[in-house]
Amino acid sequence: MKIAVIGNGIVGYTASEYLSSKGYEVDCIGPDEKSALEMIIKNKLEYKYPDQQDFISPKFSRPDIKKNKIISDEFYKKKTSDFFAIEFANEMGLAKYWGANLACDALKEEILKLALTSKEIKFISQLIPILDVQKFYTKQFKLHKNIRKINKFLENTKNKPYEIKSSKLAIWSEKCEIKNLPGYNFSKAIFGNEWGRKINFSRIIGKVEFIEINKKDPNNKITLHINEKSGIKKRQYNFVIVASGSLGSYRIIKQSFFKISGNLFDKINHHPIITTISFLPLVPYPRYHFGTSNFNLKIKSKGTEAYVNFIPLESAIKAVIESKIKIKNKFIQNSYYQISKITNILDQIPFSPNWFLRRLYFTNINLSSQFTASYINNKQGEINIIGGLRSDFEKELYKKIWPSLTNYLRNRKIYSLFIKPLNVAKGADLHYASSLSNYTNDKGQLKINGELKKNIIIVDSSSSKILPIANPTYYFISRAIRLLRSF
Ligand SMILES: Cc1cc2nc3c(=O)[nH]c(=O)nc-3n(C[C@H](O)[C@H](O)[C@H](O)COP(=O)(O)OP(=O)(O)OC[C@H]3O[C@@H](n4cnc5c(N)ncnc54)[C@H](O)[C@@H]3O)c2cc1C
Repeated sequence: MKIAVIGNGIVGYTASEYLSSKGYEVDCIGPDEKSALEMIIKNKLEYKYPDQQDFISPKFSRPDIKKNKIISDEFYKKKTSDFFAIEFANEMGLAKYWGANLACDALKEEILKLALTSKEIKFISQLIPILDVQKFYTKQFKLHKNIRKINKFLENTKNKPYEIKSSKLAIWSEKCEIKNLPGYNFSKAIFGNEWGRKINFSRIIGKVEFIEINKKDPNNKITLHINEKSGIKKRQYNFVIVASGSLGSYRIIKQSFFKISGNLFDKINHHPIITTISFLPLVPYPRYHFGTSNFNLKIKSKGTEAYVNFIPLESAIKAVIESKIKIKNKFIQNSYYQISKITNILDQIPFSPNWFLRRLYFTNINLSSQFTASYINNKQGEINIIGGLRSDFEKELYKKIWPSLTNYLRNRKIYSLFIKPLNVAKGADLHYASSLSNYTNDKGQLKINGELKKNIIIVDSSSSKILPIANPTYYFISRAIRLLRSF
């Protein structure tokens, strides 16, 4: 039996490894950065490298990400209005540059409902590393007195409603360099940042333009029209697993089976995000720290539903400075490091600038996707996304959510420096889901005019009715494995 997996992001990669571990012949189809660029040049598409772009995270100022985003936007056509949308044409998709917060604890409730078997759980944990940030700090910096303070703080919130938890990151601890822990920049230790690992399936470098069901074929084989280096190739499969991301899967399914509904829009879910800077006097981060989420907090009560990521502010500031001044000059570079050496000594002296800085966290707050009112459609392979939020969003936020959240945080000695939070661009959570939930059943199988196509299964977030409030990728990986159990 031949299986095609369309999409080489983290979900496509996991699905391909899983199916090949069961002995199936698997082709994983998707572009890499080089082939995407070649296709753009071949088709004489315009590809410009802009100096200035209004990106929403310091990560998007990195030259490698900027370049990949611009190539990808040309490769995967889309129009957006009030929505930040990205797809990456590369090995690993969005997970090549992600924050790698696996949110395992906060996703427990949703993952338990999947009722994964111990073998399935073992498979995922062997594929994706899980690093506990505070355990890592405790092990590495055990003599540092701050570590004891932090552990005490965590211990004190235990068994109270809404525990503050150490973050779990998709990072290989053995690849970490202590003096340069992963954060905004490229790191070999972050799962997805570096490609080149051994894979057990075959890779086809290309873009699937069209899925065709062979109606006359007694075995119901499916033909994929794949844009490869040598031109369009047709390849036949018994099963097709779609894992092209919530935007990519929508484009390919609508383009192949629902062309005539070009003017109809479908709902797409994402998280509204608000952000602030918080002062945590009891929880300083060490001099060498992860520049991604260090703590998390999930609150789910009647008035408030939120998932909070606490990210050391120092790394965000460093990333912005490095990207803005592009320190090339050796002298400036040396002075920069000498100054930071001196300020590092000051972090132990109470109320010195560094004492404050190491207690400030960039605080990203995901809110429920139920506030989303964003819509997507496809016209001739180009998707169109219109961002929106429910009309009562602002009222709910300022009257209920923000007061009760800040009150909760204050009781835990966490203080927001802003009276009101900042709203982040719609779609900037980069967690898109449910674009195809009207076209699939709960097994992820495609429905065309009420008829089930059992050999086309959409396993990524696009077919999920649920978008968990916490960073959801670990849930979507687990869900994909669950949907593939029928094999
Ligand atoms: C900066 C950043 C930080 C993030 N931080 C976190 C975090 O901390 N925690 C978290 O849980 N999530 C995070 N995310 C989100 C996370 O990266 C995504 O949820 C996840 O990577 C989605 O994986 P996917 O495989 O479903 O889709 P994608 O990553 O979109 O992969 C889809 C793949 O399919 C390919 N494809 C698309 N169309 C076609 C086609 N027609 N033919 C062939 N191939 C196709 C694409 O090239 C791509 O490789 C972050 C994302 C970014 C960008």
